[in-house]
Amino acid sequence: MSVMVDIRSVHKSFGSLAVLKGIDLRVRTGEVTVVLGPSGSGKSTLLRTVNHLEKVDRGEISVDGSLMGYRRAGNKLYELPEREVLRQRTRIGFVFQNFHLFGHLTVLDNIVEAPVSALRRPRKEAVASARRLLERVGLGDKADAYPRQLSGGQQQRVAIARALALEPKLLLFDEPTSALDPELVGEVLDVIRDLAAQGTTMIVVTHEIAFAREVADTVVFMDDGRIVEQGPPAEVLDAPRAERTRAFLAKVL
Ligand code: ADP
Ligand code: MG
Repeated sequence: MSVMVDIRSVHKSFGSLAVLKGIDLRVRTGEVTVVLGPSGSGKSTLLRTVNHLEKVDRGEISVDGSLMGYRRAGNKLYELPEREVLRQRTRIGFVFQNFHLFGHLTVLDNIVEAPVSALRRPRKEAVASARRLLERVGLGDKADAYPRQLSGGQQQRVAIARALALEPKLLLFDEPTSALDPELVGEVLDVIRDLAAQGTTMIVVTHEIAFAREVADTVVFMDDGRIVEQGPPAEVLDAPRAERTRAFLAKVL
């Protein structure tokens, strides 16, 4: 199976605070990787480096065979111009904890915006595709609503549809259900579960252990800027080797 994401000895600091201390991780095409770990362990920073929203200090990241943010010539790396980075980023969908929808746009226009402006798709085509995506996330009747008229769960499903509109090779989720009332978590996880069943390559940061057990091909446990252990859910969740993993799971389960 081919490798979609290849993260090699990535280090990242903010000032004197080392946040990623040598991360190595590979995500195979069609697989779901769930990242667990305590608050502050570097999970969001790791996702943001994959998308090149944060530059790494050391190491490198390839997505679908291309180095993020850089071009290699001989054994030298040259930074890509911003528009090239933006183009790379259109291949990667990102879903945030707090939805980040455009409040002044309707649900439909939230989804249509990026394909039209970033990929120069004809609007009519983008609208037709947005309507199909809304059906897919169970919101076919909400096209003309504004985000504030929707529940958190519905807003997050719109955010997922918006991410899918760019037909990304890879989807990144940063705690997609953490801002939701408990009764709305299931509807969002159902959508992510469907995407997994269809073979979408994803990295999902979440504290939903039952979901991880069911959907993940690989579970990664991070603590203090390092991957403490990684493997299939049956190993990491049900028979963790590291004391830190056991302690964390005891708290969240
Ligand atoms: P997690 O998502 O696991 O909670 P984060 O990646 O958000 O962890 O943060 C890891 C550490 O990096 C935290 O101590 C956080 O305060 C710090 N951090 C994250 N982003 C920045 C930033 N832009 N500037 C300074 N410190 C940051
Ligand atoms: Mg985070």
